[in-house]
Amino acid sequence: MTVLLASIAVPVPLYLSFDYRVTAELAAKLRRGCRVRVPFGRRERVGVVVAPPRETGADAADFRPIGALLDDAPLLPPDLLAVCEWAADYYLHPLGEVCATALPGRLRRGAPAQLERPRIYALTAAGRAALETLPARHRAQRALLETLQSGPRARDALACGADVLRRARDAGWIEHAATLPGSAIHAPAPPPTPEQAAALAQLQQAADGFGVHLIEGVTGSGKTELYLRRIETALASGAQALVLAPEIGLTPQLVARFRERLGPGVDSYHSALGEHEREQVWLRARAGDARVVIGTRSAVWLPFARLGVIVVDEEHDTSYKQQDGLRYSARDVAILRAQKCGVPVLLGSATPSLESLHNARSGRYRHIVLSQRVRATPPPRVRILDVRGLPLDHGLSPPLIQAIERHLGDGGQVLLFLNRRGYAPVLLCHACGWSAPCTHCDAHMTLHRGRGLLICHHCAAQQPAPRSCPSCGASALLAIGAGTERIEQALANRFPQYRVARFDSDRITSGAALERQLADIREGRVQILVGTQILAKGHDFPGLSLVGIVSADQALYGSDFRAVERMGQLVTQVAGRAGRAGQPGEVWLQTHEPDHPQLRTLAEKGYGALCAQLLLEREQAELPPYSHLALLRVESRDAGLPLRFLEAAQRLFAGHRGVRVADPMPSGMERRAGFTRAQLLLQSARRAPLHKALAAAVPRLDQLPGARQVRWSVDVDPYDLM
Ligand code: ADP
Ligand code: ZN
Ligand code: ZN
Repeated sequence: MTVLLASIAVPVPLYLSFDYRVTAELAAKLRRGCRVRVPFGRRERVGVVVAPPRETGADAADFRPIGALLDDAPLLPPDLLAVCEWAADYYLHPLGEVCATALPGRLRRGAPAQLERPRIYALTAAGRAALETLPARHRAQRALLETLQSGPRARDALACGADVLRRARDAGWIEHAATLPGSAIHAPAPPPTPEQAAALAQLQQAADGFGVHLIEGVTGSGKTELYLRRIETALASGAQALVLAPEIGLTPQLVARFRERLGPGVDSYHSALGEHEREQVWLRARAGDARVVIGTRSAVWLPFARLGVIVVDEEHDTSYKQQDGLRYSARDVAILRAQKCGVPVLLGSATPSLESLHNARSGRYRHIVLSQRVRATPPPRVRILDVRGLPLDHGLSPPLIQAIERHLGDGGQVLLFLNRRGYAPVLLCHACGWSAPCTHCDAHMTLHRGRGLLICHHCAAQQPAPRSCPSCGASALLAIGAGTERIEQALANRFPQYRVARFDSDRITSGAALERQLADIREGRVQILVGTQILAKGHDFPGLSLVGIVSADQALYGSDFRAVERMGQLVTQVAGRAGRAGQPGEVWLQTHEPDHPQLRTLAEKGYGALCAQLLLEREQAELPPYSHLALLRVESRDAGLPLRFLEAAQRLFAGHRGVRVADPMPSGMERRAGFTRAQLLLQSARRAPLHKALAAAVPRLDQLPGARQVRWSVDVDPYDLM
């Protein structure tokens, strides 16, 4: 007798799909992408059908039966499941876990997929007639019909009781409508600038199918306007659009701009939404009700019914890379998804990543450049400020302080950028040299003076800030170095007549908080802004005339191969905020390395020239985008294990032609959160051999000695090598 088996992707950290027994009756209903409940070990799991039932000669006793089918129709549509399969293969991650990543929480746990449609009512012809004849004393009924005269309304927008609605329906005066009319509230598109017109022509010229367009345009050059127009084209043909934005760039303001232009059916999708809301957006995308979704990284997994275009705004942004679990790049998955769906993808940035620039240069991407701001303010020049030997007041040099004073006096706004939060990165005992080490990490704890705490930024450990040295008892504790909190205080003390606002993840804990602060700036209630990279992202500050970059030096000494690229992006993005109506702003960059060649290139010739230089260096050093990397990271509470485990792993990876396997190395921060960490770097000029080596070795890592005492993870295209 034949046995029917179906392959199920079960969310467990194992590189296998599992076969389960299916009855003939169930087999008829089981389709790829449907969820099923299956026994696994002593528990039940929710898995996804990846191969429909097939007849085998297997022994039925060897297989457990599927518990229950949870969906009538595939919950993961075919194109999304194909993307999941690609990601599982590319990132060397178990397929069941990738599918789980693509599902919102409750659906992942097996809850029924129920889309709650808002109830919308419309007037019928009978209702219109009734308005003529209905006596005035039927006040409630008349009010309802009169409201609906101007068009369908959602139930929430109707101020009447359920009985009034029911009677109107029973009389045949009102009926359910499918959608709200939207066209009436669209804001018109402004006529395109000549540069935008040329870019649009380039976008339209490309056939409707797959293609990657890199839109490189300075801040304020009208990139978002291009996205909106391309999305309008997609919507007009009945398709949906996905817009990815960096975590902190996704503000209510941005969503409002899209809603205003594109009308109803614009949803946002991000981690601050409640689980239920996320699930409903997910289901609306699947039903085709969400015409446009603007979301952060995880929105790339939304199951669109008819995807027509994808936009990745600020494509260089690091928040697109997930740093744990499935370590995917949402930008790269978006491109693959566009390819599978045969739709265009727009990558936009003022400071594209070297990867994307390289792809544009080699002709794989189409390159669209917007060089001018819509409002004729030229982007500012960056001036290098040599602070060697100058007295620094909480990290600020006299020339910078004078510039701040001058700009404030002229009614301008001033922004101080510093990529370090807290008051000071080190608290040092002048008597004995104690320096507030974190007991769990190879790192110092940062002083947060306002909260009276020492906090480790690597493991989040905290303790009260001591008043005297815990080691020798001396009271001479010095705060060394400056963070945003310290700059904020220094400026508040020096310029008490102006208001200072701080932007960092300690202060800005939600999109709403960000929005409040941004409104304070737009409306001129705040004159001085101090902040981290939150300030570098897509926000428009029309009154900003001076930007001070407190220090660029960290990046120059940084050991990571992307440190200078990233510094160039941050400096350019922050500088791009400066410039008031008509007049360019000033940008000052403090440094102890005024002659650093890359810093000079950035200041004198701009980001593009810096990239040209960096690309040459990367080519010589055989680093991305001229090679492909994968990193095997291992950590354990047992200090000796990670390196020993990696030595064994190294042998598994060895012998693949075209793949260089470095020796195991302690990680940049060897101890973090109580774990000792090490890594193994793999490098290849071509992707295929690297992938082959990974595919052969990774599934065998769990069989290596010590595998149970370590935690390991594979990072394909790692963002940093720390
Ligand atoms: P970016 O996304 O490159 O920063 P935006 O699309 O946000 O640029 O445009 C910058 C500003 O210029 C916005 O306030 C936008 O409304 C305005 N803008 C963009 N394109 C035009 C246009 N063609 N005509 C008038 N204003 C425009
Ligand atoms: Zn001491
Ligand atoms: Zn720590």
